[in-house]
Amino acid sequence: MADVIVLGAGMVGTASALALQARGLDVVLADRRAPGRETSYGNAGIIQGEAMEPYALPTNPLALLRLGLGAENAVRWTPAGVLGQAGALLRYLAQSRPARHAAISAIYAQLIARAVPDHEPLVAAAGAGNLMRPRGFRQGWRSARAFDAARADAERQVRTWGIEIEVMDGAALARAEPGLRAPYAGAIDWRDCWACADPGALVAAYAALFERQGGSLARADAGTLTRAGAGWRVTGETGPIQAARVVLALGPWTPAALKPFGARVPMVAKRGYHLHFKGERTLNLPFMDTEVSAVMSPMRAGLRVATGAELVPMDAPVNRSQLARAEARAREMFELGDAVEPEPWFGTRPCLPGMLPVLGEVPGQPGLWAHFGHGHQGFTLGPVTAGILAGAMAGERSEMIAALDLRRALA
Ligand SMILES: Cc1cc2nc3c(=O)[nH]c(=O)nc-3n(C[C@H](O)[C@H](O)[C@H](O)COP(=O)(O)OP(=O)(O)OC[C@H]3O[C@@H](n4cnc5c(N)ncnc54)[C@H](O)[C@@H]3O)c2cc1C
Repeated sequence: MADVIVLGAGMVGTASALALQARGLDVVLADRRAPGRETSYGNAGIIQGEAMEPYALPTNPLALLRLGLGAENAVRWTPAGVLGQAGALLRYLAQSRPARHAAISAIYAQLIARAVPDHEPLVAAAGAGNLMRPRGFRQGWRSARAFDAARADAERQVRTWGIEIEVMDGAALARAEPGLRAPYAGAIDWRDCWACADPGALVAAYAALFERQGGSLARADAGTLTRAGAGWRVTGETGPIQAARVVLALGPWTPAALKPFGARVPMVAKRGYHLHFKGERTLNLPFMDTEVSAVMSPMRAGLRVATGAELVPMDAPVNRSQLARAEARAREMFELGDAVEPEPWFGTRPCLPGMLPVLGEVPGQPGLWAHFGHGHQGFTLGPVTAGILAGAMAGERSEMIAALDLRRALA
């Protein structure tokens, strides 16, 4: 019998398995698919060392109205998507008030500050340095007015959080990115970020490191999880797997998996899409066109064009409207070439109304832990909160463990 089964081998679960292993525990990392094939595969690949303030919902009525009317490509919604998660959205709105958001950011910033330092030794040990591009992530504006406002806000963030930026005018951006042909008034280069050319491969490399260090990988479905004596059991492809404790790190699928165990966690599901393009000259660093909320990341598979948030049920059919606007913008910027795939990838950012990821033991279920809710920055934060989880499971207490306590997120 193992010490711990970690269910879910995305960035969060894989990093959790490594952190528990580093504490000397015998760990099985189980997933119904290979490691890193879901949300942790399809993201924009940025280790966001700049994202000190998590995404809040707009609380200004005019901005909310613009979102409601579909005026921004950043957000698309359907009635079923909004009504189906109305409770979670209302909580999220309440947490987005400026004073609450500032208090949450003070905690979030401590996590983000550790993201690059916590990834760095894992990248080295996993031999994955070839996937990483330190440093920078650029965000550009075509309108001079919007750029001036964004620059003022970026400078505020530099003063508040001590992050590093480079402010670029249009000419500096054109020199840095010669493949870019559209005119931009200016850009901010967020210097604390790292970019990954294949996020799924990075997770797979972390999982291979975990295995090389003596951990076990398994295929199993979390739906088979049951209590077994004082411990827990799942049915794996090659037979039952038992452990004293289990961690559910199923990303956006975690709330549904927790339900049968009596824990209800409201979550806002923000879907995002991507498609790769074959164009020859693209970008050196990931670039966000802020006016269409599209991130374009140079990946091994091509230029990945990724979209903002779509508020729809997790099983809703594909809607290409946000991606179409992002693609049209990208075609103004580059010789984009053909799409690599016929159909876009999509996945769900698991966003909790409190904007912080959570970890902890499920009340009334000794030995059943959960670790999820990393929203827009799970690829960034997996190793950071994994270290905190391992401490909590070893019985440590800290202000951070209390701040991320699963019980805060329960309905
Ligand atoms: C378009 C887009 C762009 C993004 N860009 C960035 C970015 O640039 N930087 C960043 O930090 N974050 C980004 N994110 C967010 C980030 O991708 C997520 O926060 C992160 O991947 C969540 O990781 P996870 O391990 O919790 O979930 P996942 O990666 O989804 O892992 C969950 C795992 O659970 C498994 N699973 C699910 N159900 C079961 C079951 N019943 N049984 C067994 N296994 C199961 C799945 O197979 C999967 O492997 C982006 C997200 C999107 C959608």
